[in-house]
Amino acid sequence: MTSNAPYPPALDAGLETERLSQTIKDWSIANGLAVRPPPALVGQNQDPEGILAINAPVTLFPSPFPKSCFEEAKAIQTNYNELYARISQDEEFLGRLVQEVAGGDDFIAKLWEIHLKVKEEGYVQNLSLGLFRSDYMVHQDGDHLQIKQVEFNTIASSFGGLSAQTSLLHQYLSPCHLKHSLTHDTNTRSRHLSKTEYPLLTTPIPPNTLNLPPNTSAHSLAAGLRAAYEAYGPSILNHPTCILFIVQDGERNIFDQRHLEYSLQQSSIPVFRLPFSQLLTHTTLSPTPLRQLLYHLPHNPSQIFEVAVTYLRAGYGPNDYPAPSSWLARRRIETSNTIPCPTILTQLAGMKKVQQVLATPPGPSTLAKFIPDEEKSSALWRTFTNIYPLDSSSPAGREARRLATDPKECLKYVMKPQREGGGNNFYKGAIPEQLKKVPEEHWNSFILMELITPPAVQNTILRQGKLEQGGVICELGVYGTCLWDQKTGQVKHNEEAGYLLRTKGDQSEEGGVAAGFGCMDSVALV
Ligand code: ADP
Ligand code: MG
Ligand code: MG
Repeated sequence: MTSNAPYPPALDAGLETERLSQTIKDWSIANGLAVRPPPALVGQNQDPEGILAINAPVTLFPSPFPKSCFEEAKAIQTNYNELYARISQDEEFLGRLVQEVAGGDDFIAKLWEIHLKVKEEGYVQNLSLGLFRSDYMVHQDGDHLQIKQVEFNTIASSFGGLSAQTSLLHQYLSPCHLKHSLTHDTNTRSRHLSKTEYPLLTTPIPPNTLNLPPNTSAHSLAAGLRAAYEAYGPSILNHPTCILFIVQDGERNIFDQRHLEYSLQQSSIPVFRLPFSQLLTHTTLSPTPLRQLLYHLPHNPSQIFEVAVTYLRAGYGPNDYPAPSSWLARRRIETSNTIPCPTILTQLAGMKKVQQVLATPPGPSTLAKFIPDEEKSSALWRTFTNIYPLDSSSPAGREARRLATDPKECLKYVMKPQREGGGNNFYKGAIPEQLKKVPEEHWNSFILMELITPPAVQNTILRQGKLEQGGVICELGVYGTCLWDQKTGQVKHNEEAGYLLRTKGDQSEEGGVAAGFGCMDSVALV
């Protein structure tokens, strides 16, 4: 490689693109960095046996990411775990916020209703497990780079399985393949970095010195599930115990989930996958007061496993609840003795409304209520950007209503409903448009958040076999696992659990990989 070549290299920089793409295509399938193909790609009903897999979209190169930001995000994750464990325990606080959004949000209202019904029956399981992911973008303020939180996920935080594989892929490519690919780079065109790019990147990084940190996301998330499984203990009914993954029908991101499952099976923990839509058919509850959740093997219903941990990779959005029976299924999990990941209260703690209340200017008073330690709470506070309610009664809400409806001011904001899974937000000019469609008394079921505008870096995405080169924006997610007792507040396990880097074209507003906007990436620390 020529000494002044920029990193990541551009495709016209003498790269052996073909060979690099082919290497990634093969490695990805060989190592499960893969998804099931979308019907649009293979044609409706063209894979009736469910045997096809395609590469997960991925960057050719690990994207440069500021080391200080990466380290900060990792270091505060256990504080975030603790914060969200405490919020989950504060039913009064969550109830108040649910009331604020429920008028315009039937889904949140329904979750709360199920929680109240279970509370009336009496919760039998006090242990609660969170597999969290806190998402950030880098905000550049002059020369200072600061992570700003996009959102905090408390249910079905995905991509931990594929992310560990992506790190391995990029490690595999570097230095050998990367270096070799670049040795033919005799005629690199110099690229002038604009002011908006990371200042540190004005120094090119030779590929054989890339700083690629290890990523334990798959094993670390599995370790969280294992901690809950062990805390559950043996069945007093003498059944074997298991972990049950509750999944969506036709899940395309199945290998992501399988990586966690395979990691658990290394410690001989039985794991089963059950579509949410079939939960009522294949489970029963043992009589009150024990209410163990019992899983009957579909091919042999008399063979029973007691479900120690129920890991939800479904149930986070209204589409998973097409019928009243879907809510009965959710209630069965919640009312049983299984350790749910998550409980309804923990799912609700992940509402964007909660993040807004924690972050609303002028200061960290709500945050301090949950995290009294000043050093810890100010470390968390630093990661917040301005988020406003859209009510008409508070000064912050009235200001937000002005910003959201002003054709110029709205360009600096994103408006979010209480939803997960990508594709639900309204950006910039679409905000006033959307508000026109919503009765004013329901505006408060949205929050208004300042857009974070990270410096773009150059990279190339390999998606469905095609290369897309250009400016990209990276979103870092840090996983965390936390097991706590809802009654006593005792935290039994609290760990940072690896990371995810998702990258999207800088013209795209959403960044979800599953939603088709983003791709998998890993960090090259600079
Ligand atoms: P979801 O729970 O559906 O993933 P997010 O809050 O993560 O919702 O928003 C989806 C995507 O929208 C993010 O991955 C990010 O790309 C973009 N986004 C959300 N909030 C912001 C923000 N404040 N600034 C810039 N982009 C944002
Ligand atoms: Mg989310
Ligand atoms: Mg998100």
